[in-house]
Amino acid sequence: MKKKYKIIIFVIIGYAVIALLANHELNSITNESRPHGSQTDTPELTRNNYLMGFLNEYRSSYDVTYYDINIDFDIQQKSIDGFVTIKAKSLVDIDTLQVDLAKNLGITKIIHENNSVQYSREEDAVMVMFNKTINKDTLFDFTVHYSGKPQGADNPPWSGGFTWAKDKNDRDWIAVSCEGEGARIWWPNKDHITEEPDSVRMAFTVPSNLVSVGNGQLRSVVESEDNKTTYEWFINNPINNYNISVQIGNYVTVQDTFIKNSRVHYMDHYVLDYNEEVGKNYFLQAKEVIRFYEKYFGEYQWWNDGYKLIEVPYLGMEHQSAVTYGNGFSIYNGLRSDSWPMYGVMDPLIIHETGHEWFGNSVTAIDPTHIWIHEGLQVYSEALYFEDKFDSYPVSIDYLKSIKPRIQNKIPIVGPENENYWALNGDTYMKGAWVMHTLRSTINNDPIWFEILKEFMIENAKGHVSTEDFFNKVKEKTGTDYSYFSEQYFYSPNQPELEYYQTDFNFYYKWNNVNDSFIMPIDLLVNGIEKRVLPNKEFESIDISKHSTIEIMDWKFYVKPIQKK
Ligand SMILES: [Zn+2]
Repeated sequence: MKKKYKIIIFVIIGYAVIALLANHELNSITNESRPHGSQTDTPELTRNNYLMGFLNEYRSSYDVTYYDINIDFDIQQKSIDGFVTIKAKSLVDIDTLQVDLAKNLGITKIIHENNSVQYSREEDAVMVMFNKTINKDTLFDFTVHYSGKPQGADNPPWSGGFTWAKDKNDRDWIAVSCEGEGARIWWPNKDHITEEPDSVRMAFTVPSNLVSVGNGQLRSVVESEDNKTTYEWFINNPINNYNISVQIGNYVTVQDTFIKNSRVHYMDHYVLDYNEEVGKNYFLQAKEVIRFYEKYFGEYQWWNDGYKLIEVPYLGMEHQSAVTYGNGFSIYNGLRSDSWPMYGVMDPLIIHETGHEWFGNSVTAIDPTHIWIHEGLQVYSEALYFEDKFDSYPVSIDYLKSIKPRIQNKIPIVGPENENYWALNGDTYMKGAWVMHTLRSTINNDPIWFEILKEFMIENAKGHVSTEDFFNKVKEKTGTDYSYFSEQYFYSPNQPELEYYQTDFNFYYKWNNVNDSFIMPIDLLVNGIEKRVLPNKEFESIDISKHSTIEIMDWKFYVKPIQKK
């Protein structure tokens, strides 16, 4: 067939597929492409986020088991040329499936069983139409060949893509970050948060004067005749697509070991050659972080892939088993250290991104709208780190108070599902942490609280969970249904207000700005003695003696005390 006719047929099939997909209700589609950033409004659903966020029949029909990623980097052109083999199991009979690749990257061909197959594209969705039906329960694979200039990063890691930088010696230094944007901005995959392959091979080809670093273990380094070198990396665990990363630069390794139960685990960190000395000393902190997380949240899950820190030209990111670091080797004066003080005992970036090996990488949100499970729990765990480190509950309060002014209360922490809505705004982090702190105070039983956290993390290791799953665990451990709490703090933007006033012999209090179902208790300090009360939506009171001093313990609960005028 002549190429021209072939293209026409592809276009016709493409429109048929689009028409099929467009059958769903799509009221408010805008051209908004960036799924997250500093949100104060829940974004409108775009056509692309509809295609990426929802597991339609062309996506739920198969389960990816393995990605084989091969990419050649042209650093001068800031472009990539690669092919990815996707191995999967069919869950139903399949004629057509959806795989995802950013629309700005060109596809040269898609191969299945040595033959080209047809495909059509709409936004970032690629509909692959096989030449014959793939029967249910078949292991099959297909390979997508593609190339182009991948999206650059505006403000990594929050607004991600490729960072094409230069190091202090004016040499190339490149890294990618794509949480929210999706791994499809640089390689084709089924780009949904619930789809994790069992293993991944990455072969990154770069000019021979540079080193390329991926996740997991380095398997081989092969230099070719054209002065290029291919670094082959392998991940032997399930992994979120956005955690798969590449870093390219003048790297050297600094080695460390983590010894546990007389087993030695090797940690091969990567830093730029001129930072070998500082890296060797500074990255020792990572071991203390891992020990802390193992104590409270269960075993590190990826020892067979190792653990390493990799220096990058942006702040950093939780790339699984390959945590990236760009905080300037500075406890106090790094980019992050300035805004997120850690009392001079820990690099805030190392603890935050390493903690994500538990919150996010091991226990993953079932939809990105529940991403407080990654970020809110992560920030909260940092408060617990200080409590443990200094053996002092007040230090954790002090830490939480330092982040409190960043809470906005404009939109709920959890938004819509199935819309590729990455709820990575400020309230997910800081309010998420405060809500966990408030829940601890409400439950008022620390041994149970710490069991809830640890069991939840261990039972769901390498799994996917929702907000409801977390509260089911809370209910199982406490015997109490805290859905009133979850509805108020996760699904409503409103901060409960405790309105109060005092007379000679009574202290009056009531809840404002709360859901009808809200029945949270709160603790008061009455002349220095803690007293728990159960406010309603109408004023109630306790008896007090004349001139009593009453404090509402708002350092334990995320509530706003308001004195009645
Ligand atoms: Zn984070």
